[in-house]
Parts: sequence; structure tokens; C-alpha cells
Amino acid sequence: MVAYAPFKKVSTGSLWGSLARALSAPHPVGRYSGYLRALGVNVDGAATVTDVHRDTADSVTLTIRPGRDWRGFAAGQFVNLGVVVDGVRHTRCFSPCDSEHRADGQIQLTVKAHPDGLVSRALYDRARPGMDVTLTPAAGEFRLHEPRPRDVVLISGGSGITPVLAMARTLADEQGWRTESAIRRVHLLHYIDRVEDLVHAAELRRLAALPGIGVTVVTADEAVGGVPGAHGLTGRFTAEHLDLRAPWAFGPDSVAETYLCGPAPMMDAVRAVYAERGREDRLHTEAFTAPAPVAPPQDGPPTGTVTFSASDVTAENTGDSLLEQAEGAGLTPAYGCRMGICFTCTAVRRSGCTRDTTTGAVDAEPDQPIQLCVSAPVGDVDVEI
Ligand SMILES: Cc1cc2nc3c(=O)[nH]c(=O)nc-3n(C[C@H](O)[C@H](O)[C@H](O)COP(=O)(O)OP(=O)(O)OC[C@H]3O[C@@H](n4cnc5c(N)ncnc54)[C@H](O)[C@@H]3O)c2cc1C
Repeated sequence: MVAYAPFKKVSTGSLWGSLARALSAPHPVGRYSGYLRALGVNVDGAATVTDVHRDTADSVTLTIRPGRDWRGFAAGQFVNLGVVVDGVRHTRCFSPCDSEHRADGQIQLTVKAHPDGLVSRALYDRARPGMDVTLTPAAGEFRLHEPRPRDVVLISGGSGITPVLAMARTLADEQGWRTESAIRRVHLLHYIDRVEDLVHAAELRRLAALPGIGVTVVTADEAVGGVPGAHGLTGRFTAEHLDLRAPWAFGPDSVAETYLCGPAPMMDAVRAVYAERGREDRLHTEAFTAPAPVAPPQDGPPTGTVTFSASDVTAENTGDSLLEQAEGAGLTPAYGCRMGICFTCTAVRRSGCTRDTTTGAVDAEPDQPIQLCVSAPVGDVDVEI
């Protein structure tokens, strides 16, 4: 581990020699970043895993010490975690689940291992203290509002607990010491399939014991023993659960803001309740997976040729996103979220027209950066990858 070791003064000549040796063989990222930093090259983002805890049979919680350039995060935001899997660096978005006021400056990520997931599986199987990773600055609009709302409802499902747990922990830390944080009521309503899927159980218990904060964990088909606040609630999200556990959320004097993160069907169910009650403006959401793309206008099958000019590869336009078409053509562009929020897959569209699959908007200005994951070609397109 050299990324954080203090650097000895070295002559530039010997350093370049060391750099050449370093780059000629595979090393942890910290090794490369160490040499590059000493040369004055800005290598933001090197970070180190300091603790690994496998909470459940398919999740792992990493504690990570960010590098010196780290500027912290706002509860609810995400980071891009970079990790080398089989010699290739991949990045994925993860939402820190700590309080944003954590004193030691480290962050905690809880990763659910998807059976076929490249990065999540690798982290579950191989993460260990001392592992070098990279972190981008925190980003995302999903975050606790400033000034803090007086009442807060947090609703999550499965791995979607991470950003709302960060919010609950942050609000708990702020009780009493932030002047604008006269939090009257906070309730976290969390949905899981089975008791064994519950992560951060001890922390949820701690939060539930604090004044002003309630926690309800609901399992799909059985009452949860020993988990805070279940009180016999089971099944999927319903308006009744909300009314029972946070009856103040829709009261006449309510100033509650609701933050929601979970699987698409659960989020749809919550949205429907808020729409029915005319409170959509109070509902703030984050999804870990992409929503269905906006359907293209019905003007016939896709036409044209997609050119990946930096790779000298062409393919018939299938109408899918440029990321999927590049992968279909055997290329491996870097990606993070596959939904247009993390910008990892940004590349320059040299010519041609593309459609934003999240909005339907088309654009044909040459030499513009576009996100491959949410851009579909309309006719001939040349992308520089
Ligand atoms: C803002 C945000 C925050 C997030 N926070 C968290 C968090 O705190 N905790 C957490 O566990 N997860 C979080 N995620 C999800 C996380 O970023 C990853 O998506 C997840 O871990 C899966 O990554 P993976 O590499 O294991 O899977 P991948 O290998 O990337 O596969 C993911 C899915 O995409 C599909 N897929 C893979 N390759 C292709 C392809 N070529 N074409 C089409 N489909 C493909 C797979 O079938 C699979 O279902 C977050 C996501 C976002 C966007």
C-alpha cells in the first residue's frame, strides 16, 4: 500500500525511471498514483478499503478511506467506485450509507452482490482491507434538502436502503446541534423480502431508539422478529403502511419531504400514492436501475450505420443505445450507471444524430460529448470510441 505513504524526495530522473518500471508491470492503482503524484500529476480519487464486512449472504459493506482530495458527500448522493476486475478497471455508482458528518472522513458503501454482476460480485468475493480503489467526487441531486425539512419520510426497498440510511444517520447526528434542524419527526420505512436480507440491523435498532426517529422494517411474507418497528406489518408497500407509521406525512400542517429509493415496482407504488394525494412535489426519488427508455417515434425500423471510429469498427444501427451497440460489436467501453447519470461512458459524437432515450430529444451538433448509455443513433452516426 503506497498510495498514502509519505513520499521521499527523489530526483526527477530516478523518478521517471521508477515510473517506467512501475508502468511496465501490473500493480495496484495506489502504486501508479503514488508515482504520478510525485511527478505532480493530479490523480484524484485513489482510495483504500480499510474494513470489509459481509452483512448477509449477498451483501458486503466496505469502509473506505478516500484520498486527500476528497470533499465529502451530502446524504443521498452517490460516488463512482473504480475497482480492477481481471486486470480491467470498472466503475459503478454506489451511495454512501454513513452520516455525512462522519468524524474520521471515511465512507461506508454497502454493495448487494448480483448473481451475474461483474463488479458487485467481485467486491463480494474479493474485497479485503488494504485493497486499492478509486472514488469520484460525490454527485447527484438526490440529497437531503437545505434547510432541513422539519418532517422526513424515508422509504426504501432492498439495496435502496443505502442513500436513505445516510439521510437517517445524518439527521440523527444533526438533532440538537444544527439550528435549522428542528426535526420533529423522521420515519424510515424499509422493505425486504426476507429477514435474512436485512443489512445494518444494529444501526437501524440504534436509530429507532433515538427520540423523533422511527424505523419500520417490513418483510414480504412474514413478520420480522427482533427487527425494530415491524409490529406485524408484512407485504409490499401500501398507503396503509405509510398512514400507520407516518400519519403526520399528509396532515394539513405537514411539511414532510419524502425520499424514496428501491426497486421499480415499489417506487411506482409509492409514486401512485403521492400522485393520488397530490403530493408528488414532496416526493424525491433515486433509482439504481434505468427506467424504460422513451419509445422512439413510430417512423419505421432503425436505419443507418454506426461507426466507432477510434476502434475502426462499423455496425448496422439496431436502434439500441450506443453503449449496447458498441458492446454488441465487441467493444468494451467503460460505463457506470447505464442510465445517464454518472457520465462514465461519455464519448464524442463526431457526426450524425442521436436521440436521448430518457427524454426522446434528438441532437445532431457535431463533435459533442454524449453519454453512450442513453443515446440511440438516428441514422448514420460516428462516435469516437
Ligand atoms: C445512483 C446509483 C447509486 C447506486 N448505489 C448502490 C448502492 O449503494 N448499493 C448497491 O448495491 N448498488 C448500488 N447501485 C447499483 C450499482 O451501481 C450497480 O449497478 C450494481 O452493483 C450492479 O453492478 P455489477 O457490475 O455487479 O453488474 P453489471 O455487470 O454491471 O450488470 C448489472 C445489470 O446490467 C445488466 N448488464 C450487464 N452488462 C450488460 C450489457 N452488456 N448489456 C445489457 N445489460 C447488461 C446485467 O444483466 C445486470 O442485470 C447504484 C446505482 C446507481 C445508479
